[in-house]
Amino acid sequence: MRGNMNVVITGHVDHGKSTVIGRLMADTGSLPNGKLEQVKASCARNSKPFEYAFLLDALKDEQSQGITIDSARIFFKSKKRHYIIIDAPGHIEFLKNMITGAARAEAAFLCIDAHEGVQENSRRHGYLLSMLGVKQMCVLVNKMDLVNYEKREFKSVVRKYSRFLRNINVHNVPFIPVSGMEGDNIVSSSKNMLWWRGGTVLALIDKFKEKNPPDNLPFRMFVQDVFKFTAMGDRRRIIAGTVSTGNLAKDDELVFYPSAKRSKVSSIEHFGENEPPEAKSGMAVGFTVVEQIYVKRGHLAVRADEKPPQTGNVMRVNLFWLGREPFERSKEYILKLGTERVRVKLFDTLKIIDASNLHSDGMKKMVERHDVADCVLTTQRPIAFDTVDDFPITSRFVIVDGYEIAGGGIIREVIRDNQARYRDKVIDRNLRWDMGSITRERRRELYGHGPSLLMVGGPEDPRKAEFAKALEQNFFDRGKKVYYLGVRNVLAGLDADMRVKRHNLYPEDREEMVRRLAELTNILVDAGIIVIATVSDLSYDERETFRTSVSPVEVYTIWVGTSEESDIKADYTIENAGEAQDHLTRVLDHLGQLGVGT
Ligand code: GDP
Repeated sequence: MRGNMNVVITGHVDHGKSTVIGRLMADTGSLPNGKLEQVKASCARNSKPFEYAFLLDALKDEQSQGITIDSARIFFKSKKRHYIIIDAPGHIEFLKNMITGAARAEAAFLCIDAHEGVQENSRRHGYLLSMLGVKQMCVLVNKMDLVNYEKREFKSVVRKYSRFLRNINVHNVPFIPVSGMEGDNIVSSSKNMLWWRGGTVLALIDKFKEKNPPDNLPFRMFVQDVFKFTAMGDRRRIIAGTVSTGNLAKDDELVFYPSAKRSKVSSIEHFGENEPPEAKSGMAVGFTVVEQIYVKRGHLAVRADEKPPQTGNVMRVNLFWLGREPFERSKEYILKLGTERVRVKLFDTLKIIDASNLHSDGMKKMVERHDVADCVLTTQRPIAFDTVDDFPITSRFVIVDGYEIAGGGIIREVIRDNQARYRDKVIDRNLRWDMGSITRERRRELYGHGPSLLMVGGPEDPRKAEFAKALEQNFFDRGKKVYYLGVRNVLAGLDADMRVKRHNLYPEDREEMVRRLAELTNILVDAGIIVIATVSDLSYDERETFRTSVSPVEVYTIWVGTSEESDIKADYTIENAGEAQDHLTRVLDHLGQLGVGT
């Protein structure tokens, strides 16, 4: 069976897009019967010269009148496959579809008039194609008949335009000299350009690669829900979701990102069917796993023997904005990727192009309706995804402003933030973790609550520890499993090997001290305990280290003492350490509302 490929054709107005498409359809015999003759006859009747571009208009007219249903999608065919032409002229629709994944072009032609040469729009279109991640691109240097089929003229366009492409970091783009009007080098080789040995447009596009069908890609499934069975000693939990790509079978080893917790598939359940042999892309499935690890909605399930996804909270993306209100730095939005939902902020804008006229304004710092932006986003916590170059399906996200989808885009790359190195270590640690026979779930049932990490930060002051101990006492009196971990206890023990400079550690030692403490708290929360740890002058980055270490267990911060010099936004701040004890009830209430101890 012949495959399909979506092709987009762009270029400055009048550089010959419609003519080239008309030619491709006519010369590959892809037109409906009699269409060519009909259009030619109609031109003759109206005494206007025939143009190949009219073929396209004629087909479009029929489409809009609903006459030919079959040609709803304009295509031409080769021996190898069918080519569907995505109509780019309504740029906004095209860009929106491209970026949200509604219709993706796998290949692109860019027409440049040999006579008129490279125009500003030729550059903008080239830039947009690269921004949209269209890798397979070919430049058609059209209207060669107008420059006497001269090699020199062709080379001049090639030189100018490849210099531009190099500047935007696009390489290895082929150029072909053609005449849409005369049919040179479109489907058959030109007799007018014997100097050209690079083949025809059709031959070249036949060499482009079709996108991989989703079943051939690595397994990816965003967890939608975890169902628990508690009846009659049945402790199974079914992890449910829709398979984005790839396939999964019983006994496959799975890793759930971003936490990198690992387990093996013990059964696959398919709604309506009993134990299908494997789960495939597009299927809504549930499966049970051998080790009862902690998994929640939004986690990305991946097979351990396949390429791992990316994890991170700072990423470079290309997005298209549809919201009435602009996308700006001061506001918080929700990013949805698969079943993951996370708070997100615009961190930086690298390039913004107005899709309605393709103008770009280098100074602009917000993304307005119908802009396409190359920008950096930060999510409130790390999430798992793929980059568009790896696997486009799991790189697509939308941004919600209030209740509306206001934008959509693709992730280009992860930006390594301060936490990235440590996060890699934690992923490695979790992949090697040897779990005991008691699951977190069972501890939670027995203890009547889940684990949490409460960080008590603030300037050096003994009242911080006193307050932490009062919290511990209160939780304990209410029957909770709780443990106070003073930093002093680890300094003299776990950290006894560290150099001490007066009362402070050397900076690199402080980093290591925080890492060790974070690892220790991870063990304690894994044991199902509410851990209350004090760290003087806790910084934002240090708190992130704790977050990374114990993820997905939640971390809460209480600040005792002046917060002027701190870069942390605490869950509760007590500016006057002397009044800390008076705040105890309120802090406990607040923590209760946040779900601590439940
Ligand atoms: P579009 O706006 O990019 O779709 O351009 P069209 O295909 O409508 O072409 C614009 C004009 O250029 C039309 O009058 C075409 O006949 C003419 N044209 C297109 N290709 C060629 C070509 O190869 N040679 C010459 N001489 N004219 C061409």
